[in-house]
Amino acid sequence: MPFSDIIGQEGAVEILGRELSNGRISHAYLFSGMGCIGKKQTALAFAMAVECGRVRGDSCGECLSCRKISHGVHPDVRLYVPEARTKGATEKIYIDQIRDLQAGISLRPMEGEKKVFMIDDADRMVDQAANALLKTLEEPPPDSFLILITSFPDLLPSTVLSRCRTVRFKPLSTDSVEEILIRKMGLSKDKAKVMARVSQGSLGRVLNVAEKDLLSQRDRFMERIQKWDLGNIGSIFEVSESFSKNTDDSIEFLEFLASWNRDLISIKLRGEKGMLTHADKITELLEESRHKDIAALLNHADILEEAIRRLRMNVNQRFALEAALIGMGKETAG
Ligand SMILES: [Zn+2]
Repeated sequence: MPFSDIIGQEGAVEILGRELSNGRISHAYLFSGMGCIGKKQTALAFAMAVECGRVRGDSCGECLSCRKISHGVHPDVRLYVPEARTKGATEKIYIDQIRDLQAGISLRPMEGEKKVFMIDDADRMVDQAANALLKTLEEPPPDSFLILITSFPDLLPSTVLSRCRTVRFKPLSTDSVEEILIRKMGLSKDKAKVMARVSQGSLGRVLNVAEKDLLSQRDRFMERIQKWDLGNIGSIFEVSESFSKNTDDSIEFLEFLASWNRDLISIKLRGEKGMLTHADKITELLEESRHKDIAALLNHADILEEAIRRLRMNVNQRFALEAALIGMGKETAG
């Protein structure tokens, strides 16, 4: 996959293309940014550019080497991902995976001149694994490149971070998501436009809920909040109970609340002129904004952001959701 196939990450792609062309590649990169915005795709494109013999500083996407990489069978390009070692366990990257990586690094390249090792969700390395990796980062072999991919760089040890060249990936613009949905997923322009607006910069959100259908999901969420009484503790437990079995549902629900809340803030500050996520629900938004005060809405935004952060980090999800709902209820009642 040539770099031109990566949509919406022009900044990161430009940096990497330039370093590849100059031959000034770092031995270790950290690709950092929220989930599902193209970090892993870019890492694969980088690996192809390193291995492809046809194009300098980029890849052709068609030669045997490029095709092997896209099928995950190139002997000099390896991707490590978190594993759940027992049923239901949290996925981690374990010490034996890093040892396997180190064994691979110590060998000569089999097909090309360089080797590329990628670690996805690198923040999920267990301590032992991170310590072992540190040794490799301290004495990088000249013929290998490492790419650590993460949405949570803060969870990596600073000793690891300081030895990597960080490349930051931005949330995707609405236009980029729309382009991806049309070009790569074959959606109609109309449908892509609506889906892109609700995606909030992450393709993962669109993909995760595509089959559930994002818009009908939003209607269900809206129905749910209309029945709510945030001041009533019983109804809060009822809502959190209904979501507590599924982290993805909880996050989607909180993200919906956050985007709805953002629209209310925007209306309070800028009237109808602001860019609204739920522009098609303007009547409902205007009606609700009349009863809300800006300080409470800003406070809700903080509470929701914190709850989403906790859920993403796998803090007990029902606790996170309840804390958020109770916090918002207090605010509304007071
Ligand atoms: Zn090629």
